[in-house]
Amino acid sequence: MNVRVDSERGFGTIIVRDLIRINQPSIGKEEIDAAVEVLKSGILTEKSGMGPKVLEFEKDFARYVGAKHAVALNTGTAALHSAVLVAGVKPGDEVIIPSFTFHATAEVVLMTGAEPVFADIDPDTYTMTAETVEAVMTRNTKVIMPVHLYGLPADLDPLKKLARERGLTLIEDAAQAHGAEYNGSKIGSIGDMTCFSMYAGKNMTTGEGGMVTTNDDDYSEKLRMIRSHGEERPYWPTTVGNNYRMTELLAAVGIAQLRKLPSFLERRRKNAQFFSEKLGMLGKVVPPKEPERRRSAWYLYTLRLRGANAGKRNKVVEKLRSRNIEAAVYYESPLHLLPLYRERSTSRRPLPETEKACRQVFSLPVHPRLTEPELEYIFDTLKRVLT
Ligand SMILES: *Cc1c(COP(=O)(O)O)cnc(C)c1O
Repeated sequence: MNVRVDSERGFGTIIVRDLIRINQPSIGKEEIDAAVEVLKSGILTEKSGMGPKVLEFEKDFARYVGAKHAVALNTGTAALHSAVLVAGVKPGDEVIIPSFTFHATAEVVLMTGAEPVFADIDPDTYTMTAETVEAVMTRNTKVIMPVHLYGLPADLDPLKKLARERGLTLIEDAAQAHGAEYNGSKIGSIGDMTCFSMYAGKNMTTGEGGMVTTNDDDYSEKLRMIRSHGEERPYWPTTVGNNYRMTELLAAVGIAQLRKLPSFLERRRKNAQFFSEKLGMLGKVVPPKEPERRRSAWYLYTLRLRGANAGKRNKVVEKLRSRNIEAAVYYESPLHLLPLYRERSTSRRPLPETEKACRQVFSLPVHPRLTEPELEYIFDTLKRVLT
């Protein structure tokens, strides 16, 4: 570790480390060996998308979340796009999503020709609720798509009930929530389809990659078709699909990552607990909440400043970054105010809790590679910056 002693900042002598990243992949010998084995085997991918490693990864992932099927794709965005296509979303339809999310959640709706309709969030959990969804529902609503932001599941029972009553499909964006739990069940076993990302910064990774889980045989079959050019059988397309196949190399890495996921999540939880205990005593911030019967995957540790400090978010983040802590703001702009979305008729509604969160939140790293001294350093630095 590259350590330098820094005494210019008026804190006396402190040790400033290499940049502490907001998230960082944990790759070890297991992933490297698995990748080499595939490269030596000669099978790099299969036309059908169903090579031996992909099938094994899907089986392992489905078993892990407790779903009947898992379908591997080459990005989380491909997973989301395939799921909305399989749900039958088409021009004229509306898909209800939060505005407080990464913009891929909305992008895949535009890709189908349908309209994203933005629902506000609950300020304690940063996720949309049955109430905020119902407030924007119309005759054209086809899909409800909650995002389990920062790793914390949205309150799914009321959303599922609402979807059932209105004949809508419930698709979850769980790109940040591998291994999260709701009412004792793993995310991925609850909604009609659940979409995961394996991007490099996510809780488990294949560099790029995605997965959709479902308990529905028909959805599973259609997802596999869309993944490989809409083919019902080789060279026989019956719907428009894409090339969304995962390679064998990535699936092999994914198998190794999935085995480590429980230990990654344990570390994330411990790191989050460390901050929550210390920050609770400090009293100047609003730490993230984990409601009863929900278990966060702790993708990010996201907080707000309290009271008079609330407006100083950007300054605090800047100061942390200048001290080599990659604090970050997810998300600075709500989607409904981005140029790509704000002129659409469905984007005109103000979303007060979303807009407030965009001004106030910032995230600290809790990834599994953080060391104890790094955690102490992050907390001490934040404390200094706040007092
Ligand atoms: C990462 C992410 C995605 C997109 O996943 P990719 O694998 O990067 O395509 C979608 N939604 C959310 C909430 C994400 O965090």
